[in-house]
Amino acid sequence: MLHYSIGVDLGGTNLRIAAVGAQGNLLEKITLGTPVALGRDRVVRDLCDAIERVKAEYRGRGSLLGIGIGVPGIIEINTGMVRESANLPDWTNYPVRDEIETRLGTRVILENDANAAALGEKWLGAAREVEDMAILTLGTGVGGGLVLGGRVWHGMIGMAGEFGHITVEPDGVLCGCGNRGCLEAYASATAIVRMAREAIAGGLSRAASADAEFSAKAVYNLAIQGDEEARKIFRRVGRALGIVLSSLVNALNLPMYVIGGGVASAWEAFSPSIFAELEKRSMVYAATNPQPSGKISLVQPTTSAKTLVTRALLGSDAGLFGAARLAWLDGDQPKSAKAS
Ligand SMILES: [Zn+2]
Repeated sequence: MLHYSIGVDLGGTNLRIAAVGAQGNLLEKITLGTPVALGRDRVVRDLCDAIERVKAEYRGRGSLLGIGIGVPGIIEINTGMVRESANLPDWTNYPVRDEIETRLGTRVILENDANAAALGEKWLGAAREVEDMAILTLGTGVGGGLVLGGRVWHGMIGMAGEFGHITVEPDGVLCGCGNRGCLEAYASATAIVRMAREAIAGGLSRAASADAEFSAKAVYNLAIQGDEEARKIFRRVGRALGIVLSSLVNALNLPMYVIGGGVASAWEAFSPSIFAELEKRSMVYAATNPQPSGKISLVQPTTSAKTLVTRALLGSDAGLFGAARLAWLDGDQPKSAKAS
């Protein structure tokens, strides 16, 4: 009998569901809008209806192992509660795991969306050859995830890997988390748009001001057309990422760091600044640099082990596949495998 799991990517805009086999083979993918405005009960009902349809299709020939759900925001791993989610305002302190388990009679595992993306890239994407990796997801905010020994590193209460809130400017821009100068305030799509507005307020970019709809994508388009202000913004993005990555490389000495999320498509514009910072700031990187620049460094490469910093491969599917992967990693037996 076919064993499969279901991954759910519960975003503020899209609700995506995938049935995935043991080898990561996609069996089915459903994309729905997330009816956030209609309330959480409606979102959960739509989600459960879609999963029921998948289960019905595979009844008699497939066994559903479990359901993994990636949720943006702060979640509590051991209780399966959403503590707080900016994209899902009425989900505060909502026991979504129990709610869905009760409705579907199938085991549910809740995970932070960036952790799910890390697991997806580790399973089937850029980091599939390594057991230890970290991801930075650059979207509206900056998420982070850490996978050690093939599993998500949760820390004490599930909040490990908040790399987006590491300080890069001690007296910098105020972040939504309360701190000043977080990576998120310099490397997210929101930050790119803010920096573009600041550049225009300074009267510096006539080209950008002609673009009515500000978006990080528009700023990127300007950068690749050679607009100096736009290029400067992406150099700042890369510098902030490089500062944080230097600390992560020094602290963790992992073989791979993956940059994902929508802003990662601007890789060409910001990545040179990442590598410049890494070479300047991290002695662990210097010792494991895959392409040493020839500059004199305190620490010369000493081993054949290399630190790779690279783009994500799965795009927006990383979190979806990662969520599906959760069911295969969990050690417990499914509560109700026979009913699946
Ligand atoms: Zn912050």
